[in-house]
Amino acid sequence: MTQKPWLLGKTIDELTQIAIELGMRRFLGAQLAEWIYKKKVTSFDQMTNLSVKFREIIAEKYDVGGFQPSQVHTSVDGTEKILFPSLFGGEIESVYIPDKDRATLCISSQRGCRMGCKFCLTGTMGFKHNLSAGEIIGQILRIEKSSSLTNVVLMGMGEPLDNPEVFKALEIMTAAWGFAWSPTRITLSTIGVIATLQKFLDQTKVHLAVSLHNPIESERETMMPAQRKNKLSDILNLLRKQDFAHQRRLSFEYIMFDGINDTAEHLGELKRLLKPLECRVNLIRFHAIPGSTYKGSPNSKINEFNLALNAAGIRTTTRSSRGEDIFAACGMLAN
Ligand code: SF4
Repeated sequence: MTQKPWLLGKTIDELTQIAIELGMRRFLGAQLAEWIYKKKVTSFDQMTNLSVKFREIIAEKYDVGGFQPSQVHTSVDGTEKILFPSLFGGEIESVYIPDKDRATLCISSQRGCRMGCKFCLTGTMGFKHNLSAGEIIGQILRIEKSSSLTNVVLMGMGEPLDNPEVFKALEIMTAAWGFAWSPTRITLSTIGVIATLQKFLDQTKVHLAVSLHNPIESERETMMPAQRKNKLSDILNLLRKQDFAHQRRLSFEYIMFDGINDTAEHLGELKRLLKPLECRVNLIRFHAIPGSTYKGSPNSKINEFNLALNAAGIRTTTRSSRGEDIFAACGMLAN
């Protein structure tokens, strides 16, 4: 797919630079940002306070950018799986999850993923490519219900901290010239990529969700090969130095697998590791994926973990399953 570069995904500094390079006044950068990120226009013709001449000049070199969804599948529970074409071929997926007074969009950061978690359908695709900041932001702007979104989670296809473009997308979401969202509306979910986790903690105030899934490192490595380079002990050491009481929320995701990570030993280790941290735990029912030998824990076991962790003072919830019938639930995104 050959096309002009997108303005969508550029920061205000980059938009200003483009205006200057086209021989225009620098304040046009701010006006472009306003039209793209606040007024959500899709063409230069809609930028009615810019001169016709400027619109013609910029349209020769750039597109506004962003794809319309190519398909939308709706679950019996109202969850929508939304497919977008990707700039570099193939498709990416977002999931819209309405829930009482909240509407959350789960967005993708990569096509495929190189982390290879054994229980995840995206992981079985292997890594295809990083999404550009424009493609990440485009998932939010181009869905029909964009204006009703209350929250965004980077929990779709891909490992967000493995894609540098995610930092630019977060800047656009939270900057005054961008969406001007509070960072508390955004959660980034990661397996804990040590190389970029510190940068994320230093540069953003976005909520953090760490995919834990097993507190015993040798076992975690079997389920999540990325543990080899990103040791749980190193991740926890880094997190212990942060202030999660005031600045942002820290949560741990824990998919429960029958006989794999749901024993008394796992429960004891979880309590020992997480007790010193200001955090919460989300227990997640496993959604069977084709070709996987993993099975989900019975509900009684999930309830047992929930009660025991809460009793230990670790705030724990069990995430209800959404969109399983359309393969939109956790770990089921693979086109
Ligand atoms: S669970 Fe997340 S990090 Fe692991 S393979 Fe799937 S998308 Fe990648």
